[in-house]
Amino acid sequence: MALIADLFAPEGLGMPDPWVIAAILLVVLALAVAIDRDVRHARYGLVWVVAFAIPLAIREPFLTQKTAMATLAPALLAALICGPRTVLAAAVTPIAILTLRVPGHSPYLNPGYLLIYAVLVALVIGVQRTMLSAMEHATKSSALFDALARETNEIITIAGPGKDGDDAGVHFVSPSVTRVLGFPVDEPSKMQWAEVVHPDDIERIAKMSVHIRSAPGTSGTGQFRMRHKEGGYRWMVARATNLLHHPQVRGVLSTFVDVTPFVEERESIQKQLERDARHDEATGLPNRRFLHEQLAAAIEATKLGGAWCLLFIDIDGFKLVNDSLGHDVGDRLVRAIAERMKPNVGATGTIFRFGGDELAVLLECDEKRGSVLANDLAASMRQPFTIDDRDVFVTVSVGVTAVQPLHARPEAVLADADVAMYRAKERGRDCVEIFDENLRVRSMRRHDMEQALRQALENDELRLVFQPKVLAAEGRLVGFEALLRWTSAKLGPVGPQDFIPLAEETGLIVPIGRFVLERACRELRSWKRRSGRLAGLKMSVNLSGRQLLGQEDFAAQVKSILEAYDVPPWDLELEVTESVLMTNAAKSIERLRQLKELGVKIAIDDFGTGYSSLSYLRKFPVDVIKVDRSFVTGLGTSREDSAIVHLIVTLAQALGLETVAEGVETDPQLAELRLLGCDQVQGYLVAQPLEVADAETFIERALGLEPRSIRAAAE
Ligand code: C2E
Ligand code: MG
Ligand code: MG
Repeated sequence: MALIADLFAPEGLGMPDPWVIAAILLVVLALAVAIDRDVRHARYGLVWVVAFAIPLAIREPFLTQKTAMATLAPALLAALICGPRTVLAAAVTPIAILTLRVPGHSPYLNPGYLLIYAVLVALVIGVQRTMLSAMEHATKSSALFDALARETNEIITIAGPGKDGDDAGVHFVSPSVTRVLGFPVDEPSKMQWAEVVHPDDIERIAKMSVHIRSAPGTSGTGQFRMRHKEGGYRWMVARATNLLHHPQVRGVLSTFVDVTPFVEERESIQKQLERDARHDEATGLPNRRFLHEQLAAAIEATKLGGAWCLLFIDIDGFKLVNDSLGHDVGDRLVRAIAERMKPNVGATGTIFRFGGDELAVLLECDEKRGSVLANDLAASMRQPFTIDDRDVFVTVSVGVTAVQPLHARPEAVLADADVAMYRAKERGRDCVEIFDENLRVRSMRRHDMEQALRQALENDELRLVFQPKVLAAEGRLVGFEALLRWTSAKLGPVGPQDFIPLAEETGLIVPIGRFVLERACRELRSWKRRSGRLAGLKMSVNLSGRQLLGQEDFAAQVKSILEAYDVPPWDLELEVTESVLMTNAAKSIERLRQLKELGVKIAIDDFGTGYSSLSYLRKFPVDVIKVDRSFVTGLGTSREDSAIVHLIVTLAQALGLETVAEGVETDPQLAELRLLGCDQVQGYLVAQPLEVADAETFIERALGLEPRSIRAAAE
């Protein structure tokens, strides 16, 4: 205590002139402010007032009020304006005072006083530093927040409590609102939700707001559309938290993120998926599912008096194209066909790909107009399609049906159109058929036929008949054409015109065709064994497109059958129709070459009915041309038919090919064929297709009766 009392009890203190002290203080502090340049720090100068004034007050209890004021006023001023540099002021001032007072004799030099003073200075510096760094931190955070609020892609809002506690007034909106939604920063706070949020989303956002305000700390998220100032809406994902209780926030803090690009991308992917589900991948055409939907709508439309019509289109021989040229070419062909249809279909109809080789056209028109259009479409297909520099010939079979209010479901319309289309196929393809009830009955029969045909081989219901071919000039028997017959246990006799197309469609033609080849070779061998005079007798076998073009190893099959039945290759003649050859000319040429290499003879069947050009004819490695019956029928009566047959025979002769006239029924026809120089004839005039036993009788007679008249041989 004595030490402390001693510290504060110096003798002989005399005060310097207060005005001098004030002047010194002012100069020093002004210097400090000038250096510091930050008036904000003045608050902390107050601390220095205390630090400076306390010792003065203690040491100078006798100071007059005037002196004290003169000393404290500048210190107060310094405190108000000074910052950290007041440290300098605080340190320099007392020394200056003392220096001025009595050099070498000053109570301020009392070590106790200086110690207290030093401790106080250190304390104040520490406090000031802490406060300053807190302030700097706050300043930095605020700058960071400003930058974030301005630069972020999110919009941040704080909505305070409304008058009644739940109606929010937005009191903060981040400047990013301008970039995201185009509004000046002060505008949204003046707007109602209804002015910014999409009308359909208002209710959801209101519900979310009520939920969030229900309790402190509650948060929620949602996706809404918000209006852009320039027009249109942006998709925003919002997250809001109730911070009404938070002392610094006192509101609902919400962030809105613009997710429009993601939503748009998702929507476009979804649209693409929906589009894909309704379109055929290979051709881009609307697909079966789409057709079902459109048909359902069309049925409804007919109930209100609308007229709609469905065309069901099957591409004839498409399987052959697919098998021989590949699926890619098949798809391109379908695309090309649809393209060619477009001008006819126009805007009132839609073209669908129903299946691999099936197209459908749904038109807003009646059945009559639909059938006219169907015929136009079929006609437009008769020109070849060029795919990969290859001419591909196809025809179409079209079924037409009106969409009826009575059609319960789209499937019913499709079934009717399908039935009509099958009838068109049965009628020889490349034609149009309109649905009627009788066709349904036929179609059921067809279904039964397919089932029965599957059993025909096993049940031994198939057999061959043989139609003789003779030399036109002298009537000598030169060969037989093997023709297939089917007598079904269930359906009775079925003509080849009916079941062969069915066998081709179902692929049954492959085993059936093999059966025909084997049977024909077997009979030829057995006949030849009976007489040495039959050495030159030939057997003709009809080939279907799927046999020739669809089987890679067809030539090898033929070879093994020939060997198995010991038939020399040149005694076998394979008949291929012109239309089969033209479905894929290149492949046909290749396959025919393989057969020719075996030594087998090749005939073009039904010549004149297909579309082969002369240039192709030259390229096909064939030996025989069979003039189609349709031209032979007109001989003797139609000058055009005579001219055509004449042309074919002349052409064949020029190319070194043999000619066979099919379907010769009358003597005048035979006479004219002889005149025209046709080599061989085949037809009812010579003989109907004969059962095996009858064919044998025919052979015997032919051998015995030669060289009598052709007719005599058949009798
Ligand atoms: P195609 O090869 O042109 O056979 C000739 C058709 O004309 C045969 O009919 C025959 O009976 C008939 N025909 C022969 N002469 C006359 C005549 O003077 N007048 C009339 N009106 N018709 C005559 P079919 O047997 O009904 O055979 C029809 C078609 O079925 C054949 O036409 C052929 O394309 C096909 N076909 C028959 N058998 C087979 C076979 O085993 N395989 C294949 N792929 N097709 C066959
Ligand atoms: Mg034939
Ligand atoms: Mg023929």
